[in-house]
This record gives sequence, structure tokens and C-alpha cells, in this order.
Amino acid sequence: MARYIFVAGGVMSGIGKGVATSSIGKILQSKGFRVTAIKIDPYVNVDAGTMNPIEHGEIFVTDDGTECDQDVGNYERFLNENLTTAHYITTGRVYRAVIERERNLGYKGRSVEVVPDVPNEVISRLIKAAKKTKSDIVLVEIGGTVGEYQNLIFLEAARIRKLQHPKEVLFILVSYLPVPEKIGEMKTKPTQTAVRLLNEAGIQPDIILARAKVSLDEPRKRKISIFCNVLKKDVISAPDVGSIYEIPLNFEKENLGNRILKKLNLKPRKKNLKDWGKLVRTIKTVKESVRIGVVGKYFETGEFTLMDSYLSVIEAIKHAAWFLKRKPEIFWLTAEKYENEPKALAELKNLDGVIVPGGFGSRGVEGKIRAIEFCRKNKIPYLGLCLGMQLAVIEFARNVCRLKDANSAEFSANCQYPVIDVMPEQKTLIKEKKYGGTMRLGAYKCELKSGTKSWRAYGKQKYIFERHRHRYELNNKFRALLEKKGMVMAGTNPERDLVELIELKNHPFFVGAQFHPEYKSRPLRPHPLFREFIRACVLPR
Ligand code: GLN
Repeated sequence: MARYIFVAGGVMSGIGKGVATSSIGKILQSKGFRVTAIKIDPYVNVDAGTMNPIEHGEIFVTDDGTECDQDVGNYERFLNENLTTAHYITTGRVYRAVIERERNLGYKGRSVEVVPDVPNEVISRLIKAAKKTKSDIVLVEIGGTVGEYQNLIFLEAARIRKLQHPKEVLFILVSYLPVPEKIGEMKTKPTQTAVRLLNEAGIQPDIILARAKVSLDEPRKRKISIFCNVLKKDVISAPDVGSIYEIPLNFEKENLGNRILKKLNLKPRKKNLKDWGKLVRTIKTVKESVRIGVVGKYFETGEFTLMDSYLSVIEAIKHAAWFLKRKPEIFWLTAEKYENEPKALAELKNLDGVIVPGGFGSRGVEGKIRAIEFCRKNKIPYLGLCLGMQLAVIEFARNVCRLKDANSAEFSANCQYPVIDVMPEQKTLIKEKKYGGTMRLGAYKCELKSGTKSWRAYGKQKYIFERHRHRYELNNKFRALLEKKGMVMAGTNPERDLVELIELKNHPFFVGAQFHPEYKSRPLRPHPLFREFIRACVLPR
């Protein structure tokens, strides 16, 4: 039977619970266990697809087309596994299933109660995911912070599971220990309060991961141990690190993996974090940098800059840069700036390469098109991701094919030359306001054209599978003209003849993908398109 480790968060959000969960998974995997991870989001939303990335961060897409929280992306990157819809649970999904079952007389006429019927639905989903992946250990990250009303039913599920199988369930609290500047001392009280809140839900943490600026000293560990009722050796320091990929190694220094196994009555089967250690050494020692600009719009929130919306893009850049022994330096470029002051485009010359990532709606689009034009003309390596591919087609249509009014139907429904058009089935969905989970989502087959850059990048494979999330596509009516003027259709979907990859010749690297390659990049296996993009970036110009 699978063991379950529930990971909850205390004190505040944004302290890296997802990365901590992923890191625990990595360690246990390195000790010879089959590990999987599940993210629970306490939102009423059925999935993350309808959420604004500025508010929620990146929407990650799995092979099977689930739009989920960015943490699922972290799990995939750390565990090097492809996860599925079973690895993402929301309040919306759980209630929807319970209500549907009730409507189908699935509860055989009895009254359906929030407790235990809702937690039972949660538990049955966890068991299903464990079986499907044949896992020895299932990590379950409960979103939000303890003490919130929202995640109570999930804590209930965890508590009930423990009651049923006391030896197979473990609780880990990821907490935060602030060091107020004026006081200069690390404070444990918020963590004590968080544990008390967890106790109120009937849960006693077995292990506390103490997130803080620095490692915990002895007095702090002792205090947490006594007040929070855990052994001192189960208070694990989780200090800030330069790179998230160091975290599994740091946890191992504190013997976290063996403590977990011991509590679950398991013995390590092997030990192998070698490749991971090698990667971390590279990360810490690379000196020469590669400077990549990301032209986007989802990073400004009030006075703060958020990078979470582009998380997988950032990670994919890093993986490829490290592979080529470069230190990634990423610059956030607000697209709208290029609309208001075109002169600012000159700054792109100081970069080794430019990426326009995915996006929705017309804000910033014209600025991005200007940046793409600048890269095309000045031979700056360019990688377009989804929207970034579509805008590269628009730019080419306008400035090379001379179709002045070329646009995407997304931004200008009645433009003369809709070189990017809505997919027919999407038109109906939009009209009926059926937005949730209805885009072209998940992995689709793409046939590569031999001789192209992309084909070479992918090791001359004929077919590849990549993940999608979009409603618009290159309009085949314009394909012949675009090709005649020099655009290469490097990849197409064989079933529907949709263009999935475009390239330009006579340019060091100019590639646009209708799919999102960033979702499939892994720390020890960079994505081929990112790898070749970075390779072009580091070539002397
Ligand atoms: N808005 C575009 C579309 O729906 C691009 C989507 C994206 O970049 N993910 O087709």
C-alpha cells in the first residue's frame, strides 16, 4: 500500500511549499522509491485555466491537457515524470464530483454531508492517483495556509486518512521564521501558532521544515521542538538558497530523507543524487553569462515585479544555459514600453537572445511585434512561444509580405488579413461563453520537416509531441504566401494540418512554436528548442 505524506503550509503563503514538496520527492526517489506528487488547490475554480496569471502565477499544462497550478510543473521537473489530471485537485473538482454522484443517486438516497463525504472524495482521488502511478510514496501538497477556512476539508481528508492508516501517513509542516530587521533575532512564535492551528484540525506535524533567510541555530531548534511537540532532529532548516535545485541537497544534509523513511517504516533501497549534485555544482560555478530578454506583460503588480507567470519559461532557459555551461541572466522587458518609446528597442542589442512567451488579449501585443521585428532585422536569436509564434507570423506578414493590416482575429476580429485565426471549434465555444478547459490543450503530435533547425534540434525525429494551450492558429489561407516570402513551416500537426512550428532562414535562430516547449524542459534534460536557442545566443555575433 502507498504511503502518503501531507505537506501543509504555516504562517504565510509563497514560502516555497511546492519546491519543498518537489525536493522531498526527489530525495525519496533517489533512495529507490516510486514517488509521485499531487497538488491540492483550495479554490472553488475547477482548474487553474480561468485564473489570471498575475494573480495565480503560471498555468501549467500536463500531457493530458489539465490546466493546473505551477507547482505541478515543479513536481515534473524535480521528479522527471509526466503527471496527469489525477495529480491536481481543487475544491471545484471535488464538489463537482460529489454533486454529480448525488444527482446520479450514487449515495443511494442518504443525505450527503460535507464531512465525511467531501473528504472521502478527496481520499479516493489520492488513492486513484497512487494506483495509477504505482507509487510507493505519494506527496500531497495542501495549498493555502493552515488556519484558513478554504483548505479545511483537505486537512480533514488528511486527518481521516491518518486515522484509518496511522503507520502509512505522515504530516510535514512548511513554516516560516521571520527575522524582523529591528530585532535581528529569528522568531519562532508564528510557527508555534501555525502548529496550534494544525492541532485544532486534529493534526500533529511529524516534521517541521523551517523556511527562513538562514539556517536555524540550536536555541531555535530547541524552542520549536518543545513548543511544537516534535523531536529536535525533525526540525529541518530550509534556508534561502541561490537556486531551488540546491534544496534536495540541503535537506539531505539535515538527514530529512532517512527521517521520513524511518517514520514510514521503510528502508532506503539505494542512494543516488549524483547527477543532481553535478548539476548543482555547475549552477554554483558557471561564470560566463548568457543574457536573455523576455518581452511580456504578466509581471507587474502594483509596485512589485512578479516572475511567477513565466515560471516554466524561466526554468527552461536556466536548464539550457546550464547545459551549455552558462549563467542565465534574464531581463524582464515590458512590451508596452516599445509602443510608447520605440527608441527603447535598441536595448535589445545588448542581449544575446529574446523570447516572447505566451499571452492572451491585446495589451502589449504591438510592442511585442516591434521587438520581434527588431530581432528579425538585427539577427538577434529569437524564440517565440505560442503567442510569440503567432506574433512572429503577424510581423512577417506585415513587414515582409506587405499585408499591412495583418493581425490575429483575437486582437482585431475584422482585420483584412487574419493571418492568425480562431480555430473553428473555438469560435462556437467562445460564442457560448464556454471558456473553462476548452482551449486546444495538452500534447499533440507534430511532424517535423526534415532539414529544418527544429528537426535537427530534436535529433532528426519525424514526430514529436508537445503541449498546447491556445484558441488561435496560423491561418492556412496565408501559408503559401508566407512560405513564398521565406517563412519555413518546420512542423505541422498531421491530423489537422495545423502549423505548429515556424522558422526563418538566413538568421542565426528565429523559431516560433505554437506549442509550449517550456513545459517539458527538465533540469537534467533541457528542451531541444531552448538548448539550440541558447546555443545560438552564445555564438559570437
Ligand atoms: N492567445 C493566443 C491563443 O489563444 C495564444 C495563447 C498562448 O500564448 N498560450 O491562441
